[in-house]
Amino acid sequence: MVRINPSSKTNAAEPTAADLQNILSRQKAAFNLNPNPDWASRKAKLSKLGDAIKANEDAFVKAISDDFGHRATEETIIAESMVIQGGISHAIKHTPKWMRARKAPTALQFKPGSNKIIPQPLGVIGIISPWNYPLQLAIMPLIGALGAGNRAMIKPSEYTPKLSMLLKQVLGEIFDESEVYVATGGVNVAQAFSSLPFDHLVFTGSTNVGRIVAAAAAKNLTPCTLELGGKSPTIIDKDANMDIAVSRITNAKLLNAGQTCVAPDYVLMPSEKIEAFSDAMIEQAEKFYPTFAGNDDYTSIIADAHYARLQDILEDAENKGARIRVAGDDDKQQLAKERRVPLTVVTETTPDMRIMQEEIFGPLLPVVASENLDESLEYVQSKERPLALYWFGQDNQKRDRVLNESISGGVSINDCAWHVIQEDIPFGGVGPSGMGAYHGEAGFESFSHMKGVFFQSRFSQGKKLHPPYGPATHKMLSLMKKII
Ligand code: NAD
Repeated sequence: MVRINPSSKTNAAEPTAADLQNILSRQKAAFNLNPNPDWASRKAKLSKLGDAIKANEDAFVKAISDDFGHRATEETIIAESMVIQGGISHAIKHTPKWMRARKAPTALQFKPGSNKIIPQPLGVIGIISPWNYPLQLAIMPLIGALGAGNRAMIKPSEYTPKLSMLLKQVLGEIFDESEVYVATGGVNVAQAFSSLPFDHLVFTGSTNVGRIVAAAAAKNLTPCTLELGGKSPTIIDKDANMDIAVSRITNAKLLNAGQTCVAPDYVLMPSEKIEAFSDAMIEQAEKFYPTFAGNDDYTSIIADAHYARLQDILEDAENKGARIRVAGDDDKQQLAKERRVPLTVVTETTPDMRIMQEEIFGPLLPVVASENLDESLEYVQSKERPLALYWFGQDNQKRDRVLNESISGGVSINDCAWHVIQEDIPFGGVGPSGMGAYHGEAGFESFSHMKGVFFQSRFSQGKKLHPPYGPATHKMLSLMKKII
């Protein structure tokens, strides 16, 4: 497999709206010549995609780290390349079964006719991806799109220019532009991209931009999968195993320095446990990261504007009376220089604080008093439906109440974020946290047209319903009324 020598240039000429339209037209024309690629050709594409990601792993690790200022190598391997390889293996194992026509039941009055559902590629899938897991979130939708027999155009984030350029080079090496194309550039390119009449558009990013993208797609009646964000709650029951909860929540909150769509945004727990829990979180963070500045295991905040936003949110909470605990004792100037934010536990919050209103997307963790499950569920239900929800506890009846009475994109029980990398269940949001789903079979179906087909029998009695209507029709109708 070709190993790319990453280009030092990060500014490939940005495509114009006309260039993008031209690529889309070429992809659609190529699709029309081969509208239902066989499994062998789909498998070949998935395999070479996997091989290319593997062969260029070091270069991807470096590009992402350069874009972030620093990204822990292991985080890129765990949360980007391994997730992608898992997605590809799963798709290669299962897509032949998903591609098959599925038998569907047929109501008695329509027999001996029969029904089938026939999955069919849609055509060209547009993929707009964010900066936080820039490789995974560009490639995972691509796996679904290629497995389902489509072509694809990708617009990665302008916040990760090195990764975007490398992605363009690597995919350009293994795919013709009429199969897979990467459009690098800024928001103007993203706007032109989202206005294209794709056969389906997958957008991963913020809820606000999601609204703009959905409106642009609506003009073309392009169906969308929207993978958005929000404030994902963690409910800790009073009898939860605190050691387990502390270590798992700390890990999930500090992965990628909290810049994870499914990071636990805030915690709800009984007030009597908050002090001990908050101290334990700080202690655990310091065990994971003896220092935050200069630590290769810890990731930087992506950009100055995002760093400043986190500082502002914190200052707002402090000014309004919150109590702040910061892990470690790193030099503040050094932390700022490296754009590193240590775990910061925020207690005694009030609803008017920005930290309780906006998606945090960084390593700040508000802990809110909630004395019992009724109170926690009421709190969650009063907010926008989140992308993820976490519950820690041992009582299965309470667990089931959480599952039945809260609505979120997905759930992990007694841990955080693991549901996202299960290829056997759908991943997606609900309401303001998203629309539609992908990963595994859910992705295959999102990027396919699941065509309903009725096969009529030569013995059909349907002609008795043809005009001119007479006694045979009436007999047939009274028989059908009895059956239906
Ligand atoms: P963002 O919405 O700012 O940007 C995402 C993409 O949209 C980028 O490629 C950008 O170029 C493009 N874009 C920006 N303005 C646009 C416009 N006007 N029209 C069309 N496209 C436009 O998001 P971000 O800051 O890159 O990512 C962070 C957000 O993404 C967080 O809210 C996070 O929760 C969410 N997220 C969700 C998931 C998920 O799977 N649900 C995964 C990762 C991140």
